[in-house]
Amino acid sequence: MNNLNYTRLLPQETKGLRPKNCNHPWTWIHMHHIMSDLSDMTPQAYRAHHTLMLLTKHWDKVYSQDPVKESTHSVYHYSQFQADSSGSTYEFKICPDCRKEDLRAFSMTYWHREHQIPGLDICPKHQTSLMKFESSCAWLTPNPVDIEGKIPSEALVMANFHPVVRRYQDIALCTLRNSSLVRFNRAQEKLLARAIELGICQERIRHTGHGSYLESHIPQYLYNNLPRAWMAEHFSANFLKDDFYPTEWSPDQYHTELDRLKSAGMAEPIFILLALATLFESTESICSILLEPANNLVLPRP
Ligand SMILES: [Zn+2]
Repeated sequence: MNNLNYTRLLPQETKGLRPKNCNHPWTWIHMHHIMSDLSDMTPQAYRAHHTLMLLTKHWDKVYSQDPVKESTHSVYHYSQFQADSSGSTYEFKICPDCRKEDLRAFSMTYWHREHQIPGLDICPKHQTSLMKFESSCAWLTPNPVDIEGKIPSEALVMANFHPVVRRYQDIALCTLRNSSLVRFNRAQEKLLARAIELGICQERIRHTGHGSYLESHIPQYLYNNLPRAWMAEHFSANFLKDDFYPTEWSPDQYHTELDRLKSAGMAEPIFILLALATLFESTESICSILLEPANNLVLPRP
């Protein structure tokens, strides 16, 4: 299933397995429906538990009852914080310890969804560094039993233990594990209110005298509070220089997306998560904003 080229052939290869009562065309446009028919789950459960769609801008389609065109996007990997960062070159990751456990338990291994969260360089379970691969590796090696990837630098691994990065990773995991409870729109509203309270967002009156706009220093706040080794990997290598700050008009994707946080409903989920982790002090307070209240919350750590 990691091989997207193969998924185009999937309907052909599985024609004989098509259930009699199936009410959708057996074409690759309906891939999530086909996958769910073959594995005895609903298309919604398949999207929620086996893809990263929840972290994409199509997050609100995960539970759609209709076939969604987003099903055919690359929902097994996620476009990173910055398309030309090193994090983006080596976006597929494996934990050697999880792989050993898979081999013992199943006699084969697979690419774990949770390891592919952008900005994650250590295994959430074992706390050890993840080996990194170019995306073609994942498509070519669905059972990645003996491939060796790039090991992250010690500085990058250390940066993953920084409280803000830790919090980001925890809430991203929490989001994936509680997909039906997620409400990114509300989270962005609460994020803005918090930014105003911290004085990093101000309402300004237009000099024409008509209406007002929000002046946001949220991006600068993140640059000041995230470890440079982490930003160097996931934003831009320029952050290795201590005095580097993107200019206000920087066209870089991460900067544009962080600036978008000031416009309600416009920001991408992973940028909302990263800003929440930076502006709030505890995972619990963020989870209470991000998720509907529920008794059965699955938290990242016991
Ligand atoms: Zn692991």
